[in-house]
Amino acid sequence: MRSPSHIGVFPAGYRPEMISGSIFQSIINATREAVVLVDASLRVAAANRHALAAFSREHLPLVGSRLSEVIRDAALHEAFSRTLVQKTASDVRLDIIAAAPRTFDVHIEPLEMEDSFYAVGVFYDVTKLENLEKMRQALLSNLSHELRTPLTSILAYVETLEDGAIDDRENNRRFLGTIRRNAERMHDLISDILELSSIESGNVSIEPKHVRLGHMVDEIFEALSSKASERDIGLINDVSENAAPYADPMRLEQMLTNLIDNAIKFNRPAGTVTVGFHENDSAGCISITDTGEGIMSSQIPRIFERFYRVDRGRTREIGGTGLGLAIVKHLARLHGGRITVSSVLGSGTTFTVELPTQ
Ligand code: ADP
Repeated sequence: MRSPSHIGVFPAGYRPEMISGSIFQSIINATREAVVLVDASLRVAAANRHALAAFSREHLPLVGSRLSEVIRDAALHEAFSRTLVQKTASDVRLDIIAAAPRTFDVHIEPLEMEDSFYAVGVFYDVTKLENLEKMRQALLSNLSHELRTPLTSILAYVETLEDGAIDDRENNRRFLGTIRRNAERMHDLISDILELSSIESGNVSIEPKHVRLGHMVDEIFEALSSKASERDIGLINDVSENAAPYADPMRLEQMLTNLIDNAIKFNRPAGTVTVGFHENDSAGCISITDTGEGIMSSQIPRIFERFYRVDRGRTREIGGTGLGLAIVKHLARLHGGRITVSSVLGSGTTFTVELPTQ
């Protein structure tokens, strides 16, 4: 019997039982994707090592088992049956629900061997791609949302001024002040997002040197002093004279400014912010400790995500782009270091930047 040209055919003399250890097995082992060959009774006749890694279960050998026992998915089963019966290719999406969920695009082709028909399925793992796409969409929607709020406010105040408030001597300056604040917020947001994307795309390089930390902390305190005194926050520089961590000065200043700014913002009135430094075997550790409200342990892994805020409403009042900690995390990594947090609800938080010693 001649098979249709789109059906793969094995050379004469080939027996299904010769599949294992054959050239076919070597070829499927060489592919990056999981490949499963299913016979007419919907049993697995061969599988490559990626398929064994992805679908093997304890006490259930992949080869020889029913496809439906190995992968419990009605649509997949149906697609393999269709290919076997109709001798045409099928495509199906497979979601594996597990501790680490995975998604596959499965392409199934008919295959003839010694008058027996098989269906060979190639499982393209699209989990990472789909996650990236979800992250991209979430980022876009967050960004539009974050930009729309100040923009709506700017438009409303401009309209009010146009409608006559421009001549209202008591309020016109106040309205302009609000417009300026909202425009600044949009400006900060765009700078932070550009900054984050250039760090993430690898366009930021660091030039580390020994930094006089105590001096740098004094300068940052100076820059943030009016913000701190508005809330009556005491700024304590506990860094010793000779502390000299190895870091890119500009990037270190950026990290510390973000962290100290947060420590002031999320503090209680008349609280304190203390910056300290100690060294362990492999790293210089800069700690920023506040006496604020603290962060629940369940929230700690999330605060480094872009736009994540523990208390959305409140943070909007205090100001901030929701991107500061994401930037700090990436900058610490760029130095080969990391940022850690310890926090006690109601009494305060310590962020520690660990930078490898030279
Ligand atoms: P932003 O400060 O602009 O909101 P960040 O990325 O710097 O954004 O911080 C994310 C969130 O983490 C903040 O909104 C806040 O909820 C929480 N957070 C950060 N630093 C502190 C801190 N020192 N104390 C309590 N919560 C904090």
